[in-house]
Amino acid sequence: MDWKNLPGSGGGVEDRRGAGGLPGGGIAVGGIGGLIIALIALFFGIDPSVILGGGNGGTTQTQSQPQTRSQTQPQGQSGSSQATDEAYQFVDRVLGSTDQVWESIFKQAGRTYTDPRLVLYTRGTQSGCGTANSAVGPFYCPLDNKVYLDTSFFSMMQSQLGGGGDFAYSYVIAHEVGHHVQNELGIADSVERKQRAARTEAEANSYSVRMELQADCFAGVWGNKVQQQANITQADVQEAVKTAQAIGDDNLQRQARGSVVPDSFTHGSSQQRVNWFMTGFKSGDPNQCDTFSKAYNQL
Ligand SMILES: [Zn+2]
Repeated sequence: MDWKNLPGSGGGVEDRRGAGGLPGGGIAVGGIGGLIIALIALFFGIDPSVILGGGNGGTTQTQSQPQTRSQTQPQGQSGSSQATDEAYQFVDRVLGSTDQVWESIFKQAGRTYTDPRLVLYTRGTQSGCGTANSAVGPFYCPLDNKVYLDTSFFSMMQSQLGGGGDFAYSYVIAHEVGHHVQNELGIADSVERKQRAARTEAEANSYSVRMELQADCFAGVWGNKVQQQANITQADVQEAVKTAQAIGDDNLQRQARGSVVPDSFTHGSSQQRVNWFMTGFKSGDPNQCDTFSKAYNQL
């Protein structure tokens, strides 16, 4: 993957690394239980609305204030200019390319896409959805339209989640941006309403799985659109597939407790995650990412 061919985001990355972070804390996971918290440490794509237990009604109706990026100084930076290092460059270009891809897709549909921002941090930082720390993994906060990414996650992926690699890391970012796309399209809101109305936990979880698989598919759509520009090879695609397999709920549960409980899935199985990523990647068409109209057992 030649990520240096991708366009930068033009100031969309907030560099909060080295800002000292926030000790302890963590997104409000109270009551969900230690096991789940342990799992959270492993998989990315946590949706704070899920973690916060449905959240407060209607607040995901985000006031998408257009960001004036050129004016924005990275917040919480501790003076050191780190904006030129490789990790920053990489994240900036992947984000910039998602901006480009989704702006174009939205435009074709007669809509306007508001670019999300991405906060790069170490240890911990404050998000619009609560305190973020390394244990939470990358996530998108619909309340401030920002993706939060702890830089140590990439090395964790390398050691624990299928080996990592440029395109695998890009998939993580594109997946989180996929949640922003859902937010922009109003899908996140309608799903949250359905989740709150769900009668059983299994039913609520099923909506979460549909959301996550759609974000995987949207990540695939992005991959399709930058395939030539970034010279995505078959080996790159295998990296992303390996990561999608590693973070399937079945795989994570098997690792964490030795058994698998499909009703408790919130992100989908390894096979489902791979399939939906590939659906987006092969088609490049977000309309193929409708994970909501299919029967649940057909996903
Ligand atoms: Zn997700």
